[in-house]
Amino acid sequence: AIRLEGLHKSFGELEVLSGIDLDVRRGEVVCVIGPSGSGKSTLLRCVNLLEEPTSGKVVVAGTEVTDPDVDIDRVRRRIGMVFQSFNLFPHLTALDNLTIAQRRVLGRDQAVAERTARHNLERVGLTDKESAYPSKLSGGQQQRVAIARALSMEPELMLFDEPTSALDPELVGDVLAVMRTLAREGMTMLVVTHEMSFAREVADRVVFMDEGVIVEEGAPAQVVGDPQQPRTREFLSRVL
Ligand code: ATP
Ligand code: MG
Repeated sequence: AIRLEGLHKSFGELEVLSGIDLDVRRGEVVCVIGPSGSGKSTLLRCVNLLEEPTSGKVVVAGTEVTDPDVDIDRVRRRIGMVFQSFNLFPHLTALDNLTIAQRRVLGRDQAVAERTARHNLERVGLTDKESAYPSKLSGGQQQRVAIARALSMEPELMLFDEPTSALDPELVGDVLAVMRTLAREGMTMLVVTHEMSFAREVADRVVFMDEGVIVEEGAPAQVVGDPQQPRTREFLSRVL
C-alpha cells in the first residue's frame, strides 16, 4: 500500500506537484493519466524517493519513506519499478539480468536466484529466451524481461511509468497482457499510462492529473467513461 499526503515537489522555482493526496490500497491497481508535464513521473519517483519531495508525507507498506531516518534502500527493495526504457544490462543474458540484483541486493545464492529467475521468465512468457542478450530481443520482450527482473525481487508493489510508450504498436499487447495477469494475481500497482483501454479494463481507480494536482479520480467507468471536470474531458477528447 502507498499513501501520499500533501505531497509537494518543486524544481527550483517550478512547482511540479502542488499538494497530492493519494492512497493505493493493497492489491489495488491505480492508473494515473494526464497531459505531458503534469507531474506523473515525478509523482511516481517520489514514491521510492528517486525524487525527494519538497514537503508532504510518503508512506510505503507502513514505512514513512520521507522520515529522514529511514533506510531507503530497504524500502526500495520492496518496490518494483518499470520504466519506459527497459534499462537491461546489455552485456548480460536475460537470465543473468534477473539473477544479478537478487545476488547482490538480496544475497541469494546462484541456484536460488536462477530458480526464481526461471520462474519469472515463465510468468512473462519468455522461458525460451533465458540465454538471449537484450540486443537480440524485441522491445516488447525486453520490457517483459524488465518486468520479470522486478518480480524476481519479490516486491510488495510495482510502479510502472509508461511501460509501453516506447514500443511498436504490435508489441504493446504482450506487455499489457503480463500487467493484466499481475493485476489479477493481486499485485499492488501504480501505473502511469496513456493506454486508456488498459486503464478502463484493469484499473480499480483512475487518477487524472494536470499541472501538479489531482483534478479527478474515481472508477474508470466514471473518470474515463463519464468525466465530470472540463479539464479531464478536454484531455480525453485529445487521446481517445
Ligand atoms: P510526460 O507525460 O511527458 O512523461 P509527466 O507528467 O511525467 O510528463 P514529469 O516528468 O513529472 O511530467 O515533469 C513535470 C514537470 O517537471 C515538467 O515541467 C518537467 O520539465 C519538470 N521536471 C521533471 N524533472 C525535472 C528535473 N529533474 N529538473 C527540473 N525540472 C524537472
Ligand atoms: Mg512522464
